[in-house]
Amino acid sequence: MPRRRRCRDGDGAETTTVPETMSDPTTEDEAFMAEALAEARAALALDEVPVGAVVVIDGTVVGRGHNRTRTDTDPTAHAEVRALRDAAAAIGDQRLRGAVLYSTVEPCFMCAGAASHARVARIVFGVRDPKFGACGSIGDVPREGRLNHTSAVTEGVGAEEARALMVGFFRSKREEAAERRAAESDGGAREGA
Ligand SMILES: [Zn+2]
Repeated sequence: MPRRRRCRDGDGAETTTVPETMSDPTTEDEAFMAEALAEARAALALDEVPVGAVVVIDGTVVGRGHNRTRTDTDPTAHAEVRALRDAAAAIGDQRLRGAVLYSTVEPCFMCAGAASHARVARIVFGVRDPKFGACGSIGDVPREGRLNHTSAVTEGVGAEEARALMVGFFRSKREEAAERRAAESDGGAREGA
């Protein structure tokens, strides 16, 4: 059982109780992460880094998103931001109280910050991101007590498939780059001959 403490909510008018430490996966987490993984595959189909996210309130998916930064030429078009925007539009409220944000990959500072602004109650992610992760890797935005909202974090849900998608994507990108270099050096050799 995670230790709990009272937490002042952003509006200052009310308090919410949030777990302070790592929270264990629930039985629903795997099912909702499967929805996020479907979004990650949608990103992959666009040749985007395969990250997907969903927002769940009261056991219902209210927002979905997948990474579209290249497709939309938008550095903020991360899966989580898109899912949060989708959820806020769906429920007609910028505050997603009681929401759980599922992401296949550890949210970055921008996305963890957006989740904090939205008052997300819990963040569940698959694999850590050692280069951008802000939910335990480089920083820990959801559990930073100086911020006016904190969220519980659960990691490792759906990790195997999330990792396989990422590893497969970056491997294919490396192979494409190697093929391009080989083709270029072939061309160079012919020009030189
Ligand atoms: Zn992000």
